[in-house]
Amino acid sequence: MSKFWSPFVKDLVPYVPGEQPKLAKLVKLNTNENPYGPSPKAIAAMQAEVNDNLRLYPDPNSDRLKQAVADYYGVQTAQVFVGNGSDEVLAHAFHGLFQQSQPLLFPDISYSFYPVYCGLYGIDFVQVPLDEQFKIRVEDYARPNGGIIFPNPNAPTGCALALDAIERLLKANPDTVVLVDEAYIDFGGATAISLVDQYPNLLVSQTLSKSRSLAGLRVGIAVGHPDLIEALERIKNSFNSYPLDRMAIAGAAAAFEDKAYFEQTCQRVIDSRDAVVAGLEGLGFEVLPSAANFVFARHPSKDAATLAAGLREQGVIVRHFKQQRIAQFLRITIGTPEQNQALLDALQGL
Ligand SMILES: *Cc1c(COP(=O)(O)O)cnc(C)c1O
Repeated sequence: MSKFWSPFVKDLVPYVPGEQPKLAKLVKLNTNENPYGPSPKAIAAMQAEVNDNLRLYPDPNSDRLKQAVADYYGVQTAQVFVGNGSDEVLAHAFHGLFQQSQPLLFPDISYSFYPVYCGLYGIDFVQVPLDEQFKIRVEDYARPNGGIIFPNPNAPTGCALALDAIERLLKANPDTVVLVDEAYIDFGGATAISLVDQYPNLLVSQTLSKSRSLAGLRVGIAVGHPDLIEALERIKNSFNSYPLDRMAIAGAAAAFEDKAYFEQTCQRVIDSRDAVVAGLEGLGFEVLPSAANFVFARHPSKDAATLAAGLREQGVIVRHFKQQRIAQFLRITIGTPEQNQALLDALQGL
């Protein structure tokens, strides 16, 4: 603390991201990064941007990327917003759409950035408990609200919510925004972007950090009604009117254009997930049904924190949350087949 700080900063509780260890050789299964590299076409597109043009500001509207997203999903560019990672997209949505008189609703077990943004923007919130199977029950959201947000598939559970349940939620809340955070949708869920033309209160966010292997580039998108997109643009242009740099615009657009590479790498992760689930179940773990690039698992008799520490000693890092209801679970990112085997081998001895 310092006497120079604004009073507001003293009470801020920032988000704590998963560890990014400086050591090489670790089997890093703690932050849901993709084990495979980005599309070679995306890398080439970024390299082509490293030239004298870097003296010039980038396109403030990222038109090339918006067009690539619009083409990919068959929507209009006015329905697309892009930002520096979906965390920034979410921040603008909290600021521009969720500062309402009623509280924001999200699941009790969910992305831990949501309460942080509520703190930053002074938004009241209510955490709605997941059911006993750790699933979202949309009927539980039938209460006055200033918006609803949840990841689909949910994080850190990995459980997906079907589109018909999302539609019920949209129909029951026509006067508030429902934001579906689809950070992991490409690993097995059905995107709600197919519903944006029907529901003006639906906003869908996605990231290029997971399924498109570009966590280091920081690009996220949102798709929804042009009026919702305009709210995000207003915030963005009052905050940082050049969010995406030249490399990010080119690399992200090329990543959307290289559908074949994207589909192939997602499928490899999905196949590995099946193998990891089978391996964990063979070791006696209970694994929640996952539609993401991670699994959420608990052992009936072995303590999760002890397991995480034991794995760490063997150079395998997974994520453990010291949080009620899930303190006995480990969140394990799907890695390469070799990394997954290293995880299972390490667990065998614990
Ligand atoms: C990873 C993640 C994000 C943020 O991704 P960015 O890297 O900021 O694009 C958003 N929501 C959830 C649920 C995530 O897991």
